[in-house]
Amino acid sequence: MPTEDLAALEGKTAEQIIAWIGQNYAGGAALASSFGVEDMVLIDMIARVAPSITIFSLDTGRLPEETYRLMDAARERYHLPIQVYYPNTAAVERMTTEKGLNLFYGSVEARKECCRVRKVEPLGRALHGKKAWITGLRREQSQARGTVAKGDVDADHGGMLKFSPLADWTEAMVWEYVRAHEVPYSELHDRGFPSIGCAPCTRAVAPGEDMRSGRWWWEQGTKECGLHEHAAPAAAQSALRPADSFPAPAGPAPLPR
Ligand code: SF4
Repeated sequence: MPTEDLAALEGKTAEQIIAWIGQNYAGGAALASSFGVEDMVLIDMIARVAPSITIFSLDTGRLPEETYRLMDAARERYHLPIQVYYPNTAAVERMTTEKGLNLFYGSVEARKECCRVRKVEPLGRALHGKKAWITGLRREQSQARGTVAKGDVDADHGGMLKFSPLADWTEAMVWEYVRAHEVPYSELHDRGFPSIGCAPCTRAVAPGEDMRSGRWWWEQGTKECGLHEHAAPAAAQSALRPADSFPAPAGPAPLPR
């Protein structure tokens, strides 16, 4: 897909983008869901306008019980399969034997190792063979996500396409959609968790605090786990990539007008 088409997505609504992805990529595109409220909005849109899009989640083994309950509630509500990917057993056994169960509190490096084993490696498997993935990233969520594009080339995953249809949504818009469509959401949001992650690494935040401040709260700096390490747009760099490395589908339909 030419970079100008990716840029054109900025003028499209989330629902238009989801419908367009469904028409052009179907099972070749996948939503990565952590079952935060943004992901629930996207699941609802997929169910309504593009049910052929794959939905998957990464079960790190350390998720809160509330997330498991919501996964099953979503499955029942939408009647869509949700693929769950797990970390490599041997890698988890090696890591916890050598460094302990709660190694992430020990150092940033140890935390990143845990995220790498429990999230990043399974994400790679989940995206294998896909042409595009979809995320619930919003620019308002943090400074690091402030320039997220609705359509981008993901250099971290072999140049596949990465869509963030809610990039320009405010938190108010998200909750307005949830109320209007009666979308199920995590009980944790009502208890002050704006961001949903692993139980030992996520806590509630005070009103007015940064939305990502409850994640790895003992660390300073950027609060990312490696799934969205380079959240800023990379499409401009794609112009420098060899044309044959770009996995565009044959004959995509024009973007909705
Ligand atoms: S968020 Fe915490 S428990 Fe989850 S993978 Fe990362 S370090 Fe490990």
